[in-house]
Amino acid sequence: MAAPRDGLGAVETEGNGGRSESSGAEVVLSSDPATPAPLCPHGPTLLFVKVSQGREGTRRFYACSACRDRKDCNFFQWEDEKLSGARLAAREAYNRRCQPPLSRTQCVERYLKFIELPLSQRKFCQRCQQLLLPDDWEKHGEHQVVGDVSLTQLKRPSRLLYPLENKKTNAQYLFADRSCQFLVDLLSTLGFRRVLCVGTPRLHELIRLKASGDKKSNIKSLLLDIDFRYSQFYMEDSFCHYNMFNHHFFDGKAALEVCRTFLQEDKGEGVIMVTDPPFGGLVEPLAVTFKKLIAMWKEGQSQDNSHKELPIFWIFPYFFESRICQFFPSFCMLDYQVDYDNHALYKHGKTGRKQSPVRIFTNIPPNKIILPIEEGYRFCPLCQRYVSLENQHCEHCNSCTSKDGRKWNHCFFCKKCVKPSWIHCSICNHCALPDHSCEGPKDGCFVCGELDHKRSTCPNISTSKKVNKAVRKKKQRKSNKMKMETTKGQSMNHTSVTRKKERRETAHQYLCS
Ligand code: SAH
Ligand code: ZN
Ligand code: ZN
Ligand code: ZN
Ligand code: ZN
Repeated sequence: MAAPRDGLGAVETEGNGGRSESSGAEVVLSSDPATPAPLCPHGPTLLFVKVSQGREGTRRFYACSACRDRKDCNFFQWEDEKLSGARLAAREAYNRRCQPPLSRTQCVERYLKFIELPLSQRKFCQRCQQLLLPDDWEKHGEHQVVGDVSLTQLKRPSRLLYPLENKKTNAQYLFADRSCQFLVDLLSTLGFRRVLCVGTPRLHELIRLKASGDKKSNIKSLLLDIDFRYSQFYMEDSFCHYNMFNHHFFDGKAALEVCRTFLQEDKGEGVIMVTDPPFGGLVEPLAVTFKKLIAMWKEGQSQDNSHKELPIFWIFPYFFESRICQFFPSFCMLDYQVDYDNHALYKHGKTGRKQSPVRIFTNIPPNKIILPIEEGYRFCPLCQRYVSLENQHCEHCNSCTSKDGRKWNHCFFCKKCVKPSWIHCSICNHCALPDHSCEGPKDGCFVCGELDHKRSTCPNISTSKKVNKAVRKKKQRKSNKMKMETTKGQSMNHTSVTRKKERRETAHQYLCS
């Protein structure tokens, strides 16, 4: 269920977990722990329910956790479907065939041989994205091959490999040097000695580069990532092939133990988890996974430390703030804007937009996190945190209220600060874009209609049934307005409509800023 992290098009067209081939949107459900989910090549699948014509279907099904596009993983099974022994065996064989051709140990052996070779014999095949040993040369004779691969190049695999930008699976967007450097310096200033990098290959390599260059900053790093190409460059104790949507270690128990040992070293002291998942996707399975990693860390804690939390940096767009805080109430969002290299929108400079919507969510007290003044941040003594220069402290809200780095204005009718592009509408009785349609879908909660929260944080939610009933009622009322939000004549589910609307608004605003 990895989702796009790219531009407006994807932001607009992707619903919540919508698979492109299917018509209605789908909701992911926490499966009953008593019935283990069937396995696809990417580990345990997730349970979904199809929503069509605004109604949740009754038949639930399992699909891949990592791939949103059926082209990448076509696993499908009805929840109540019984498979014959022969089909189960065929599936098992298929799952095995889909695993990488080399085992983790074989990769390490190849790497050790590779670094022994003289420079002139160290080649890398660009087509196959593989380090070549002399025995492999012939097979790659026709391919584009880079020669003289230096140790420096080997230490920066994220530059040697091309980023897998496939939106529906990897969505690999690499940190710009400036942001990566900022993160490494911050981690070292905060005194961390170990970093669990979940989906952050470039951060992982920069930490290791620094550690080898500078004896003072000897931070260790372990990378967990689904991109198997990285296993060519790291020993078993610094890379695990991992799926963060279902906490699956592709190399089984041995890899899980590497992770556990890493988290529990020094009684769990001095370790932080940093993650930058593909976004736009499902926050819930990610939250479930992170809670499992937290639990693993906790096992290694002594009793009197039981109140402590595993420090976390979760890098994600600011419009997911309420979703993330719903799962992790102790998290707050920092104003720092994370920039990317291979991202047309989210990078600084001439071609990219000036402002990135990607932020750091953390349970570390924000007053401990110094943001660079030279990049346009200042300390707000009242809020006790660093904020963007434009983010002015509102005396009425008693907070620096801007989320997007622009100056927001206080609205006395709404009793809160709003985006600069918004004005108060007396018909709608809240602030909105000047050219909004007063008839249009309200910005409020889809369950109860209140404007101060979204469906996801609605205090009136008790069961999903209730939600859906309320949503359906609401949908009926608004059926004509909702047509705007439908695809191919089919309604999206409530989550995706709300989410789509939020994203569209955000994307729009982002582009207009
Ligand atoms: N900004 C980061 C990269 C973030 S891109 C950096 O520069 O280090 C998202 C990363 O998550 C990619 O490395 C991608 O391979 C990885 N990823 C995508 N889906 C994943 C999954 N299901 N499980 C684990 N990692 C995944
Ligand atoms: Zn799969
Ligand atoms: Zn302030
Ligand atoms: Zn205000
Ligand atoms: Zn207003």
